[in-house]
Amino acid sequence: MASVLVVEDDQFVRSALIRHLTEAGHTVRSVGTALEALREVAQVGFDVVVLDLGLPDLDGSEALKMLRGITDVPVIIATARDDETEIVRLLNDGADDYLVKPFSVEHLSARMAAVLRRTRGTQASQVLRVGQLSIDTQRREAELDGVRLDLTRREFDLLAFLAARPGVVVPRRELLTEVWRQSYGDDQTIDVHLSWLRRKLGETAASPRYLHTLRGVGVKIEAPQPPHAPRPPHAAEPSR
Ligand code: CA
Repeated sequence: MASVLVVEDDQFVRSALIRHLTEAGHTVRSVGTALEALREVAQVGFDVVVLDLGLPDLDGSEALKMLRGITDVPVIIATARDDETEIVRLLNDGADDYLVKPFSVEHLSARMAAVLRRTRGTQASQVLRVGQLSIDTQRREAELDGVRLDLTRREFDLLAFLAARPGVVVPRRELLTEVWRQSYGDDQTIDVHLSWLRRKLGETAASPRYLHTLRGVGVKIEAPQPPHAPRPPHAAEPSR
């Protein structure tokens, strides 16, 4: 059973979907605009999003691109447009599957199950580990020393991006484009989020454990070095 976000502005279609998906045992939330959908996925971790293409505020393909900017959640497009060129483009833009309206709820359920099998099948390989840090990119959960960290979306994205490249100094520009999705911006944005993240990891810039800033270059994540073992006594001390 899955938690599903239904994005559909047609009240009739929407309530039919909610009713059937709930009967099938899924947890369903629904919104009628793309902007509400973006706000929902930023706050709630869904297993799958069913996205109508014809929304009142944003075109569905724009909505898909914006969704992809903030989440990897599986997206099934529900469209009335039976246009192959557009469907190919949507799949290339990150849709996981599509259904052409009108479709039966059984058809949607089967597509959902298939998408969930694919994404859940890869879950095991989605946990990144750096020292005592573990980051589950599928569930968007991070733990340090077995304790769950309470991170904002941006803090999580920053941590996950760095943790996928342990030991590598990531240039600030790359963080801006890859984590913030901005081609410009000032270093302060990164510094502020880094300091919040550090606080949650129980470290400071002055005495870093995991997050290391190389002034003017970038940032890297690295497992802290274990404390030095006591030096073995010299086998042959020079005699006096
Ligand atoms: Ca519509």
